[in-house]
Amino acid sequence: KIEVSGLRKSFGALTVLRDINLTVEPGAVVALIGPSGSGKSTLLRCLNLLVIPEGGKVRIGESSFSFGDSSKLPGVREQARFRSNTGMVFQHFNLFPHMSVLQNVMEGPLSVKNMPKAEAQALARRLLAKVGLSDKVDVFPNKLSGGQKQRVAIARALAMEPEVMLFDEATSALDPELVGEVLGVMRDLAAEGMTMIIVTHEMGFAREVADRVIFMRDGVIVEEGPAREVIENPVQDATRAFLSHFH
Ligand code: ATP
Ligand code: MG
Repeated sequence: KIEVSGLRKSFGALTVLRDINLTVEPGAVVALIGPSGSGKSTLLRCLNLLVIPEGGKVRIGESSFSFGDSSKLPGVREQARFRSNTGMVFQHFNLFPHMSVLQNVMEGPLSVKNMPKAEAQALARRLLAKVGLSDKVDVFPNKLSGGQKQRVAIARALAMEPEVMLFDEATSALDPELVGEVLGVMRDLAAEGMTMIIVTHEMGFAREVADRVIFMRDGVIVEEGPAREVIENPVQDATRAFLSHFH
C-alpha cells in the first residue's frame, strides 16, 4: 500500500508538487497521466527519495517518512532501506554495461541484501524466465533490443522484492514494435497483484490494466477515478483537453 499526504516540492521558485494526497491500495494499479512538466516524475521520485520533498508524508507498506523538519531528515542508511521498498523502472534502462544480463539482475540482492550467490542466481534466473529472457542470461546489454533491456530492468527491480513498483514512461523510448512486450510484462505483474504506479502515455493500456487513473496538471491532482471513467468520460475540462491529444 502507498499513502501520500500533503506532499510538497519546489525547485527554487518553481513549485512542482502542491499538497499531493493519494492512496494506492495493496495490489492496485494506478496510471498517472498529465502534460509534460505537470510533476509526474517528481512525484514518483519523491516516493523513493530520489527527490526529497519539502513537506508531507509518504508511507509504503510498513515504512513511512515525514518531511518538513530538516533536522529530522532521514539518514543515508534509513533512506536506502526506505528506497528498497520500491522498484523503479525509467524510460532509459540504465543497465550495467559491463555485466551480463544475469549479473545485472543478481547485483542488487548480492550487494544490498547480502544474499548468498547461489540464491541470488536462482532468483535472477527465475525472474528472467518470468520476463521471457531465459535465453539471454549470459548476454551483455549491448546485444539486447530496447524491449529486452527494459524487461531486464524490470527483472532487476523485482529482484529486490519491492513492496511496490513504479514505472516512469517505461515504454516511451522504445520503437513501437517493442512496446507490447514490455507492456505485457507489466500486465502480468498487475495480474499477480503487484501494487504499481505507472506514468504512461499509453491510454489504451491505462484503461485496460489500471484500476484508477490520476490526472495531474501544474503539480495538482485535477481528477482521479476508475480508469475507464476518467479516460472515457472525464469530468474536468483540463482532463478532457489533455485526453483529446490521444484520439
Ligand atoms: P514529462 O511528462 O515531461 O516527463 P513530468 O510530469 O514528469 O513531465 P517533472 O519531470 O516532474 O514533470 O517536472 C516538473 C517540473 O519540475 C518541470 O517544470 C521541470 O522542469 C521541473 N524540474 C524537475 N526536476 C527538476 C530539478 N532537478 N531541478 C529543477 N527543476 C526540475
Ligand atoms: Mg516525467
